Amino acid sequence: MTDELLFYRQTDYNIKDLENIVDDIFKKNQLKDKLDEKKVLLKVNLLMGKSPDEAITTNPDFVIAVARTIKKYGGQPYLADSPGGPFNKTSLKFAYSKSGYIEPAEAGEYDLNYNSEYFNLESLEGYRAKSFKICSFVKEADLIINLPKLKTHGLTLYTGAIKNLFGLVPGITKAEYHLKLQKINDFCHMLLDLHEVITPDLTIMDGILGMEGDGPSSGVARKFNTVFASSNAIDMDIVISYLLRKDKYKNDPWPEAISERGLAIDFDKGIIPDWVLENFQDVKTPKVDKASNLIDRRLPEPISKFIEKFIRPEPIILDNCIACGICAKNCPAKVITIKNKAEIDLSGCIRCFCCQELCPHNAVEIKYPLLGKLLF
Ligand code: SF4
Ligand code: SF4
Repeated sequence: MTDELLFYRQTDYNIKDLENIVDDIFKKNQLKDKLDEKKVLLKVNLLMGKSPDEAITTNPDFVIAVARTIKKYGGQPYLADSPGGPFNKTSLKFAYSKSGYIEPAEAGEYDLNYNSEYFNLESLEGYRAKSFKICSFVKEADLIINLPKLKTHGLTLYTGAIKNLFGLVPGITKAEYHLKLQKINDFCHMLLDLHEVITPDLTIMDGILGMEGDGPSSGVARKFNTVFASSNAIDMDIVISYLLRKDKYKNDPWPEAISERGLAIDFDKGIIPDWVLENFQDVKTPKVDKASNLIDRRLPEPISKFIEKFIRPEPIILDNCIACGICAKNCPAKVITIKNKAEIDLSGCIRCFCCQELCPHNAVEIKYPLLGKLLF
């Protein structure tokens, strides 16, 4: 494997083109000879069942190209993830179907996971998590290829290579981590702990049609026209953090947590081709990180508690809520009740924004108080 970050210009999901790209990635990472008879986990981003056009999930044609290339070298690909909400065969089948993963599986492109068991994995050296509940489908893998979708994120600003691993934690168990680790910095460290104990062999980022604005599910699809690949997920996230935020990236959640672990977040900007810089001009990123970071990390607690209500963003339920209850089931703080529509008790809300992330109807908006807007 090489730590080198690879960039490929690709403007659509033409499978043949993508197979050529993946072949080159495998060649440069000396993977071709390591795949024979190996079971390879394709860890997609299946946040929820959504059409590929909405740019929320890893595109199925992108997955097909990776799966075909694995099979070309004798490997056996299987696709797995744990979306938000219940983790069982019925919910998986629904999410697979909506996201376009079933047809390719039925055509023999790859296997689909329906195992919803999980196990405990120790992480004794972890900064914030000493153990994890992990989906058992991981145990079947000889190799893990991480296939994230490039999106902005209301809590961590960006959801990429490292954040994609949170899908290894089963279903609503994810809420326990939000509840225990309410500060963004702690949450990022927990995910870096997870990456320490389950490190993908390779990450190939679906950055062709990504998302900007209120990601990871309520933002706007945006063409970045770029495929990224590296065996080093952390380096990839640093470079993409830079692409999203340019000179401001060092104080953003991921680079900050990574640097606190003694890892370098400076890199030679010369490694980024000019065409990639052009593809990432004027990206709209969420504002929530700035207020939360200020409150959580930069001010003494009594002051932060006082000013919180004046600057901290809050989730608001919109009129198109159909009272389906998905947000209430996934709210870590259990502060959502369902009446004619969902209602949030903001006094207990921990601002994890899972409700916005998982609402299938885009009926949750993040509202910024006036002072917060002026400050940030
Ligand atoms: S806000 Fe969304 S997830 Fe929550 S009840 Fe309404 S429609 Fe369902
Ligand atoms: S209401 Fe939304 S943002 Fe608040 S704790 Fe529940 S899921 Fe998180």
